[in-house]
Amino acid sequence: MTAQQTSAEQRLSPAVSLTRIRHVYGAKETTVTALNDVSWDFTPGTFTAVMGPSGSGKTTLLQCAAGLLEPTAGSVLLGDHRLNGMSEKKLATIRRDMVGFVFQAFNLMPALTAAENIALPLRLARRAPDQTWMDELTRRAGIADRLSHRPHELSGGQQQRVAICRALITKPRVLCADEPTGALDKASSKAVLSVLRDAVNDLGQTVIMVTHDPVAAAHADQVLFLVDGSIVDVMETPTPERVSATMTRLAGED
Ligand code: ADP
Ligand code: MG
Repeated sequence: MTAQQTSAEQRLSPAVSLTRIRHVYGAKETTVTALNDVSWDFTPGTFTAVMGPSGSGKTTLLQCAAGLLEPTAGSVLLGDHRLNGMSEKKLATIRRDMVGFVFQAFNLMPALTAAENIALPLRLARRAPDQTWMDELTRRAGIADRLSHRPHELSGGQQQRVAICRALITKPRVLCADEPTGALDKASSKAVLSVLRDAVNDLGQTVIMVTHDPVAAAHADQVLFLVDGSIVDVMETPTPERVSATMTRLAGED
């Protein structure tokens, strides 16, 4: 197979593939079925939002897709890697090399500067720092002039943009974000969402974002709607109004 064929196949095969995922928390009489028979292929270079009422299984779905949680049943393919039954050591390596995470609470290291936070995943993986990539990411995120600051010297929106750069520094196959704008005001949210959108448009990044905000979801290419652990609706080219209308309708059907 030529290199060209390989990269064409990479573009065509899903970045992440979930097949008949089921996840049950707890044991015996206290079990909760968080996901029930969920299947989805995340197309490379696209931005997918995951919405649904509180407790509908959004975080569980994201964690299964990211290899943070092994589902009770069903299979997860991350690129060419089947995650089911993988040893924790192998899984940790795959996560480190192939997945970027962004959390609502930023989770930056308080004692490190922004630049040190961003470079940390490469240091942990004993990979060489890539100054050109660091420069490009931080310029795109609009934090190039904040790199010597520590997290407490940055606004929430700036901290989240540092967290996104940290997640992208390893060039992951997929960026998983769980309510990345949940702790931010409107203007900061907008800046963070533009950085995610640009990563998809300009860098070909695959992004999966959990959110409960219709305005945030409207930045995605498509929206998956979860209710009680199942995908009940999918919307292409969402707008805030259509996303809100679907959420209202789904809440009414409960
Ligand atoms: P969402 O992110 O949509 O709010 P979650 O995926 O966090 O939903 O949770 C789905 C369901 O699983 C909820 O009923 C929640 O209470 C339950 N759940 C989540 N995490 C755990 C856990 N660690 N132990 C037990 N139940 C859990
Ligand atoms: Mg959640």
